[in-house]
Amino acid sequence: MLDFELSDEQVALRRLAHEFANKDLRPIVRQLDEGKNFNWDIPRKLHELGFLSLFIPEEYGGGSGKVTDAMLLMEEIAAVEPGVCTTMGATWLATAPLLFAGTEEQHKKFFPIIAEQGGLGASGTTEPQAGSDLEAKVLIPGACRTVARKTGKEYVLNGRKCFISNAGVAGIYIIFAVTDAQRPLETSCLFAVEKNTPGLSFGKVEDKMGLRSSWTGDLIIEDMKLTEINRIGPEGMGYQIHLARLANARGPVSAQAVGIARGAYEIALRYAKERVQGGKRIIEHQAMIQKLAEMAIQIEAARLMVWRACWVNANLLPPNRLYTAMSKVFATDMAVRVAVEAIQVLGGYGYMKDYLVEKSLRDAKVLQIYEGPNEICRETVMEVLAED
Ligand SMILES: Cc1cc2nc3c(=O)[nH]c(=O)nc-3n(C[C@H](O)[C@H](O)[C@H](O)COP(=O)(O)OP(=O)(O)OC[C@H]3O[C@@H](n4cnc5c(N)ncnc54)[C@H](O)[C@@H]3O)c2cc1C
Repeated sequence: MLDFELSDEQVALRRLAHEFANKDLRPIVRQLDEGKNFNWDIPRKLHELGFLSLFIPEEYGGGSGKVTDAMLLMEEIAAVEPGVCTTMGATWLATAPLLFAGTEEQHKKFFPIIAEQGGLGASGTTEPQAGSDLEAKVLIPGACRTVARKTGKEYVLNGRKCFISNAGVAGIYIIFAVTDAQRPLETSCLFAVEKNTPGLSFGKVEDKMGLRSSWTGDLIIEDMKLTEINRIGPEGMGYQIHLARLANARGPVSAQAVGIARGAYEIALRYAKERVQGGKRIIEHQAMIQKLAEMAIQIEAARLMVWRACWVNANLLPPNRLYTAMSKVFATDMAVRVAVEAIQVLGGYGYMKDYLVEKSLRDAKVLQIYEGPNEICRETVMEVLAED
């Protein structure tokens, strides 16, 4: 049976996120968009609300939440300040491999960093010479240059990761590496690493087009010595675990896109009701009615795809790649289109920073690129469909 009803707990969670976004974030959106300093009040508040540890099991102080809960948080917060979603989502991305393949010993060691100490998480996969290549179905020899040299029971890691969300501000880092660059599939590994681990340092913070409240930067890995407690899952399974968490994460990212579009649409609608041109309110002009209706229809269509994709992944294992890849492409392309249209509704004012719709466009753009560029997601769609 089809059912789009949310549980009482989900309604309460969504309300909590809505209040947080409107009371704590809305007043400081412009300041956050300057992106000059990392605002530590945000992770503090996300921790207090239990959002950072959403997926961590209750026995470790988390919320035992599902991807459908994450999707609700993402839309509400992204409608106001999408960069905060990236800070939060990167933490979930770091939690996922431990949930999928971590041992009890690893759960006890690493989950408290997020659930008790309120630390952020980060995931280091992308490298300067390889982005999409580390998200495609088959890992090409030589694509991953972060190498974990094995000596007895110890690993010595060297490499560099770039564009990493929460780099330098996270307490825990999940690093993708291979023990043999020419045999990446058989030797891929994910390692969980604490911030103060010798051999881990951070490059400059990137000056980005959008999502400026979130921190993005390089991880520099030099002779970092790790042991088996750091390795998540068996050697050779790192890439499979990474792909599974990507499949899961694309649902909340798509919800982030729906939220951005909704935020832009709400600004446009408000403006169209007030602005008078040609002797009547803009919303009474046929062309604007068509535009606003189309925006609302596109947002709703994307939301339905996102809910379906997240529902599948909340209820079935292993994570489904098809629906999240489809919804990621549709929702993120839609968010860019809707943001452009919202600017058009505001005319010249839309182009100015005061009304924040230009920010929606800047924030939306990267969603077509990260968590697998949309070109790669389309390939995933056809890989799955062609298999059937
Ligand atoms: C704000 C931000 C935050 C990020 N956060 C993280 C993070 O936390 N952790 C992390 O590991 N990474 C992160 N990334 C990196 C992100 O995942 C990569 O940017 C993305 O994977 C694309 O890689 P690339 O930038 O190297 O582009 P490339 O892979 O060089 O791609 C360039 C273009 O070529 C296209 N292309 C590449 N290969 C193919 C192909 N086979 N078929 C068709 N088209 C192709 C792409 O779609 C893209 O349009 C972040 C990036 C940004 C911008």
